[in-house]
Amino acid sequence: MRTGLIGLGSMGQGMARNLAKAGYLQAVYNRTSSKADALAVELQVQAVASPQALTEQIDVILLCVSADQDVLEVVSALCETIKPGSVVIDMSTVSSNTAKEAAALLARKQADFLDAPVSGGVEGANKGTLAMMVGGDCAVLERVRPILQAMTARIEHLGPTGSGQACKAVNQVLCAGINQAVTEALAFAQAQGLEMEKVIDVVSGGAAGNWFLQHRGKTMTNGVFLPGFKLALHHKDLLICQQMAEQKHLDCPLTQATLHDYQLLMRQGFGDEDISALYRLKRPN
Ligand code: NAP
Repeated sequence: MRTGLIGLGSMGQGMARNLAKAGYLQAVYNRTSSKADALAVELQVQAVASPQALTEQIDVILLCVSADQDVLEVVSALCETIKPGSVVIDMSTVSSNTAKEAAALLARKQADFLDAPVSGGVEGANKGTLAMMVGGDCAVLERVRPILQAMTARIEHLGPTGSGQACKAVNQVLCAGINQAVTEALAFAQAQGLEMEKVIDVVSGGAAGNWFLQHRGKTMTNGVFLPGFKLALHHKDLLICQQMAEQKHLDCPLTQATLHDYQLLMRQGFGDEDISALYRLKRPN
C-alpha cells in the first residue's frame, strides 16, 4: 500500500517520521509548502503541491489538519481525483458529524474513510506511542492496521463512522478536567512556598500522578508554555464536546469553565500557546 500524509504540524511531523522509519511513507503534502519540502528531503520522500496530486500515486491517505472545515476542505479536494478503493484516514480531532460527512463524500467516489483521532500529545507522535480511536468499517481498519501501528502503541475500534471522534471527545473532556486540577494544585503549591520540582516529582509517583503533571508541570511553573497542544485547538474540541453534551441534555461544568478560561486567554493573545497556559490564570501574583 502506497501511503501519503497531509498536514505536517506539531503532530504530523512525528507521525511522518515514524511512517517513514517503518518504510510506509511515499509522499507528503502541507499547505505551507516549505514544511513539506524540508521534511521530504529529510525523509527522502516526495513532496506534492496539492492534495489532488497525492491521489495519483497513493492509495492510503492520512490526514492530520486542524479543524472541521479544514478536514472537509481537504477531503473535497481529494474527491476531485481520488481512485476507487483508496482509503482516507483522518487523525485530526473534529466532530462525529464531520467524520460522517467526509465518509459520505468519499463513498460517492468508492473510497473508504476511517475517523482515527489520537491521544498522547506531540511526545506520543514523536515516539510512535499514540493511542488511536477508530470509527468505520472493521475490514478497512484491518487492511491499514500495519500502517497505523507505525504511529501507535494502541489502536481501538469503537464502532461505525464517527465513533472514533465521539471517543476522542471523551478524552478532551478529561483533558479539560486534568488541566484545571493540575494548574490549580500547582498554583496552590507555589503559594505555599514549596520547592516545585520536588512537589511535581513526588506527587507524580503517587495516586495523583498523571501524564499532564509529568510532562507539563515543570515547564508551566517555570512560565514556559510552548506547544505541545495549542490552547485554541483544545478550545475547538471543547466546543464540539459542549454541543454533544447539549444534544443529550447533559451538564458538563468542567468543560464550560475551561471554555470560559480559554476564551479569556485567547483574547489576551495566548491561543497558540500550550494548554498548560491555563496556569497564567491560576498562578499566585
Ligand atoms: P498544528 O501544529 O496547528 O498543525 C496543523 C496542520 O494542519 C498544519 O500542517 C496546517 O498547515 C494544516 N492545515 C490546517 N488547515 C488546513 C487546511 N485547510 N488545508 C490544509 N492543511 C491545513 O496542529 P497539531 O497540533 O498538529 O494538531 C493537528 C490535529 O491533531 C488537530 O485536530 C488537533 O486537535 C489534533 N491533536 C493534537 C494534539 C497535540 O498535542 N498537538 C494531540 C492530539 C490530537 P500549515 O502548516 O500550512 O498551517
